[in-house]
Amino acid sequence: MIKHSAQSAFSLGTDDGQLDMEGALTARDRVGIQDFVLLDETTEAAFLTNLKKRFSKDLIYTYVGTLIVSVNPYKELDIYSKKQMDTYMGVNFFELPPHIYALADNAYHTMLTEFNNHFILISGESGAGKTEASKKILQYYAVSCPSTTLLNTVRDKMLMSNPVLEAFGNAKTLKNDNSSRFGKYMDIQFNSEGDAVGGHILNYLLEKSRVVHQNHGERNFHIFYQLVEGGTDDLLRQLGLERGVQHYNYLTQGECAIVSSINDRNDWKTVKNALQVINFDEINTNHLFGIVASVLHLGNIQFDSDSKGHALLNDNTELIYIHFMLFSSQLLGVDVQNLQEGLTFRKIEAKKDQVLTPFTTDHAIYARDALSKAIYGHTFTWLVNRINESMENKVRDPSRKTVIGLLDIYGFEVFYVNSFEQFCINYCNEKLQQLFIQLTLKAEQDEYEAENIEWEPVQFFNNKIICDLVEEKHRGIISILDEECLRPGDATDLTFLERLEDKMGNHPHFVTHKLADKMTRKTLERGDFRLLHYAGEVTYCVVGFLDKNNDLLYRNIKDLMCQSKNAIVKECFSTMDPDSRKRPETVATQFKSSLLKLTEILMAKEAWYIRCLKSNESKQPGQFDEALIRHQVKYLGLMEHLRVRRAGFAYRRKFDVFLKRYKPLCPATWPHWRGEPADGVEVLVQHLGYLPHEYKMGRTKIFIRHPRTLYATEDAYEK
Ligand code: ATP
Ligand code: MG
Repeated sequence: MIKHSAQSAFSLGTDDGQLDMEGALTARDRVGIQDFVLLDETTEAAFLTNLKKRFSKDLIYTYVGTLIVSVNPYKELDIYSKKQMDTYMGVNFFELPPHIYALADNAYHTMLTEFNNHFILISGESGAGKTEASKKILQYYAVSCPSTTLLNTVRDKMLMSNPVLEAFGNAKTLKNDNSSRFGKYMDIQFNSEGDAVGGHILNYLLEKSRVVHQNHGERNFHIFYQLVEGGTDDLLRQLGLERGVQHYNYLTQGECAIVSSINDRNDWKTVKNALQVINFDEINTNHLFGIVASVLHLGNIQFDSDSKGHALLNDNTELIYIHFMLFSSQLLGVDVQNLQEGLTFRKIEAKKDQVLTPFTTDHAIYARDALSKAIYGHTFTWLVNRINESMENKVRDPSRKTVIGLLDIYGFEVFYVNSFEQFCINYCNEKLQQLFIQLTLKAEQDEYEAENIEWEPVQFFNNKIICDLVEEKHRGIISILDEECLRPGDATDLTFLERLEDKMGNHPHFVTHKLADKMTRKTLERGDFRLLHYAGEVTYCVVGFLDKNNDLLYRNIKDLMCQSKNAIVKECFSTMDPDSRKRPETVATQFKSSLLKLTEILMAKEAWYIRCLKSNESKQPGQFDEALIRHQVKYLGLMEHLRVRRAGFAYRRKFDVFLKRYKPLCPATWPHWRGEPADGVEVLVQHLGYLPHEYKMGRTKIFIRHPRTLYATEDAYEK
């Protein structure tokens, strides 16, 4: 099954094709080492020098064993062609220059030979290149795996899910012009022949607040700009929209609608085409854009107050607003009077009567924005469900299926002002770092101990303490936030902060203005709390935490949406169960549970890692900001990973599994080995000529120090 390139399985490929050992030495000087495990010394300085040397030659990938370190080049490189894909197909990992195709291919072949499930964890901070890497891997599977006409359509759908989800779920932030504002885990399903036969996406917490508010220098979700810039005159007329983002309050707050790296018109065409590929008929597409347009119309509704301070439509502009109201109610498929009422009155049920209480303008704006966020958020989930239906594996195939999961989530981010959204995003990154630690540093060392393999422990920072600080039951920040959200009466963002101060007083990763020493106090406002994350300090402003965590929608608006004539709106809101008296789970708690489930999904699979590094803050091609990269190398735990890898064993298998596969290579073990599997393995590897330093026998497994040893065995097996 495994194809080999012209070179020997024992030589290490170099990036310029020089494959002999002498050549490799000169190549080492020129383009650095392609696997950090082979570095002469494991210092941070040597690590960075190697990374920099390679980056200057556009060699953005480097291995640490089977983990890939990727540095964002911020320019198109000619390394993702079909020819490149073919080159990597079926070739042993270390034979060719490092590439994410090599990792994708290795995961694929391991899945096929061992019939197990895998996942690829792509991590790194915002703008480091996670989404690009995940797209390239998906392309690799879609283009390179064996195929039939029927399967081709499934693959097209998998590929086309990307532009659609990016249009609705990505936005320009200060860190990244195409920043993922939702988390995505995608399973690619394969049949036993290795054909990609289907896909399934799980989505995580969309940053809905962006729909109604964007910070300076940031944009709303791409789809709004694409529609207003790219939609035909006819379509815009139908939706009551005017061309040009300047007409919409929800699109202009960030004052950066035009971005040089983004072509909204072209992207609009791509999205329209992609929607067709994933089976969106005209009716669904119209309903979908109707919803996008309604949100824009809603954003333009503004309120004035009467003499009693009650919200009403502004006299002078009433006609215009009524025009917007009419349009948004038509597109949302609800009655205009009812919508107007829902945005300006609250319905309270007292005994059997219903009482309408007028809103203040602030309340009316709140109700309007809450509705916009709810509509957009539900539509996004609806979209993911439709995409899943279209990618569903419909091929009748009784054979066993395995999956490769791709995880691409919003990266760690720190802005000038950080709010509830950054808190959730950074918490998610803590969880992924914890998973990485558990699966690599900790599990690896625990295994050596359990298997009785002599081992010098490597020290590493375990961020479990920060995960606990955030998520621990009854004591963590999320629990305290929820308690404040549920507390009737006078709970506010500031009382939440006070509760935190009471409970977290002397936690080493938590500080506030009140708790800080004199020096630190100067850097903190009174309404802030600061967490010392694994990736650095982040100061969060508590304003909005309670509201965002509650994410409440007024009851009468919810009821109204359930009666919508827009099929998508109706479907989305009906699933909210408007009659339920039970309080829904808070946003942070739902997120915490979904991350817990994700961890369980991932823990049951074999892991592969891509650690993405951001090369510079200004998105410039070719710039290697050494301080910035050193910081990432540090917090991602790459040096510790390298030390564990270097001291450890690249490959391990249970004795019986190893014996079962390779026993044909030795007359003493073939066709049957009657004794203990461990003894059989020992006989087998002696016969194969393994040297004592190349392997170790554990309690239940054989450990092989370098993959090259195994490749030679695999070669013999193939013959
Ligand atoms: P976020 O956490 O904000 O979603 P991210 O890690 O997903 O960030 P990407 O969107 O993948 O970051 O990358 C940011 C930008 O960097 C891309 O839009 C692209 O311009 C550039 N980039 C990333 N990876 C590559 C690559 N391999 N080749 C060329 N350019 C790249
Ligand atoms: Mg991304």
